[in-house]
Amino acid sequence: MEFRDLKRQYHALREEITHRTERILEESRFIGGREVTELEAKLADYVGVKHCITCGNGTDALTLMLTAEGIGKGDAVIVPDFTFFATAEAVSRTGAVPVFVEPEENGFNLSVEGVEREIRRVSEEGSLCPRAILAADLFGVPANYPALAGVAEKYKMLLFEDAAQSFGGSIGEKMAGSFGMAAAVSFFPSKPLGCYGDGGAVFTNDDTAAERIRSLKEHGRGESKYDNLRIGCNSRLDTVQAAVLLAKLAAYKRYEREAAQQVADMYSQKLFTAAMVLPKIPEDFRSAWAQYTVILSGPGERSRLQAALQAKKIPSMVYYPRPLSLQRAYKALQTPEAISERTQWLCDRVLSLPFYPYMTETEVDSVCRVCREFSRNETVW
Ligand SMILES: *Cc1c(COP(=O)(O)O)cnc(C)c1O
Repeated sequence: MEFRDLKRQYHALREEITHRTERILEESRFIGGREVTELEAKLADYVGVKHCITCGNGTDALTLMLTAEGIGKGDAVIVPDFTFFATAEAVSRTGAVPVFVEPEENGFNLSVEGVEREIRRVSEEGSLCPRAILAADLFGVPANYPALAGVAEKYKMLLFEDAAQSFGGSIGEKMAGSFGMAAAVSFFPSKPLGCYGDGGAVFTNDDTAAERIRSLKEHGRGESKYDNLRIGCNSRLDTVQAAVLLAKLAAYKRYEREAAQQVADMYSQKLFTAAMVLPKIPEDFRSAWAQYTVILSGPGERSRLQAALQAKKIPSMVYYPRPLSLQRAYKALQTPEAISERTQWLCDRVLSLPFYPYMTETEVDSVCRVCREFSRNETVW
């Protein structure tokens, strides 16, 4: 079994992907073009925002959307302590300082109380200006944006969404990628909507931000390619990747999003009696199911379950083994111990199980059987 079997999706979509990419190879035009324009329009429409600006990867998307708002030296940006490194790295690349906040009590996303506490602490401390909150939608579940928007407004800060894992998720009628003043999505191959290499996009309703991001991703261009207004970078989504994404987005809308939900439902039913905490999706929220992540009672239990799964050739992954505030790259940033302690508790217990929309019930069954068997043995001990 594979952790995320991308070959199965390829075989299901092969004809359309081949047709679309061959046309580009025949015409030999690899940068920009109608596929990129068409994809941006379709993505913006699906997410329900005015602008989608594609770029080279999700990390660039994060950096571009922060830079476009002038976030940089002297600014503090609130980020989760429990997320992929890129969330904080993008903040640091602008020159701003990431301020880490622990995860909420009943989930993996930012604790709203923690966010407010850290904003106050930074304000009182006085050396940095609390400018923005960058929340991440971990494992596909949107962060608590209704509450975070209230906090951002109260302290006159900007709210941004790291939607790298949540394309297809939602809160009520609002899709992931539409929260805050801008959102960053990643098309890394294993994300809910992935291409065949690196890719990313920024989503926003703000015309000025959209224009600035378009300029920044093309060397800070102005009127033309050889008119440069600002220092930018080179970050483009290749035409071939746009073509792949057009084929995959159609399948995602047609059936993959629903299929992922069904696989998640199967897992939750079959693991009901297992000794582990199952993913809880808040009412009115929908997960994009980037991962199906459970919480074990301790690190020893987790190692034993991983070994039991491995004995049946079932892969499993630990996302994430270490709080960002304890990464060596951030050694110089002081974080109150309680924050990393809460995060570390999760880091020691989380386990992500094989998951993808093309998984069969038989496959889900074989994973769940090992988990239930393991739970029985653990209880006896
Ligand atoms: C994957 C990911 C990113 C980075 O995306 P890339 O396309 O790999 O640069 C950023 N944040 C989170 C939460 C991610 O999962």
